[in-house]
Amino acid sequence: MDSTALPSQNAGMAGYRELLDATISHLEGLQESGERLIEVDRLTLAGLMTKAVRLKPGADKAPVLAPKTTPGERQPAAAAVPRSLPSGAAARWNRAVAGSGPANRIPGPAVSSSVTPGPAGAPAPKRDPAAKEAAMNDLRRRAAECIRCPHLASSRRSVVVGVGDVNARLLFVGEAPGADEDRQGEPFVGAAGELLTRILVAMNLSRDQVFIANVLKCRPDTPGQSHGNRKPTPGEMATCLPWLQEQIEILQPEVMVALGATAVEGLLGRPMSITRLRGQWQDHRGIPLMPTYHPAYLLRSQSPADKRRVWEDMLAVMERLAMPISERQRGFFLPKP
Ligand code: SF4
Repeated sequence: MDSTALPSQNAGMAGYRELLDATISHLEGLQESGERLIEVDRLTLAGLMTKAVRLKPGADKAPVLAPKTTPGERQPAAAAVPRSLPSGAAARWNRAVAGSGPANRIPGPAVSSSVTPGPAGAPAPKRDPAAKEAAMNDLRRRAAECIRCPHLASSRRSVVVGVGDVNARLLFVGEAPGADEDRQGEPFVGAAGELLTRILVAMNLSRDQVFIANVLKCRPDTPGQSHGNRKPTPGEMATCLPWLQEQIEILQPEVMVALGATAVEGLLGRPMSITRLRGQWQDHRGIPLMPTYHPAYLLRSQSPADKRRVWEDMLAVMERLAMPISERQRGFFLPKP
């Protein structure tokens, strides 16, 4: 590392190297799985050509980066590969994307230019409400056309971007749309959604006062089944994560809540035990993140102890946001004396 560099420059370099390692690891994973050719838009290719290329020791050929050539076709901002990644490569990719620094925006959708990034390490300046609304509408329009996961794009009815107040202080992040959400184009509308709404009411909030989104914007397909849901694959989450990252940059929430293990995995970039992690503050790009159980889990378990645990997590969120908490609220789900 350059000893004459400023701390912020070193942090930027570290972020760049982490992303570079993740990219190399991803390409190596593709190579190991037999890939020899991937499509890359011309702008990304030009950028890559200015960097050194590292081959895996012993490998005689790296996958070839080939520009897409369809005339007049709008290229996606990222050289995203819409297929499942080998799990190790996906985890490393997720880690890099979930980290901080401008380099991490490389695989993501375009970030609105209505906010000028602050100096490295400094919080981004607050957007004004109208700019947030416009940026979110622009994101919705672009996401509605997203076909990075062709298998999901061909089976979905909606791209479920999210719902709520773009100026909300609190962002809830779930897993992926289910059948109801896919039909209605809104996250958390089924039984689990009703429970989330009840949790919000208990916090003296409504769905209109928070923002609710998912790690994956399209319903995971269930080929051969007429119903049912499945967990998104690491590759699907890695491919879709830039949409959520862009949303977070637009929303600038003060606190985030990850609902369930899959949301935690998507946001933190590695599988983690929700039982061990829930109730403990995490950090997502400088934003406090509270992991807790998914409402669907509470519906299945029907355990008063688990309901109380989720409620304790929500009390911690309310405290973090300096929301007033009544004695009655503090006593929810506690055994009656
Ligand atoms: S899941 Fe996300 S990345 Fe994949 S097609 Fe849908 S919106 Fe695009």
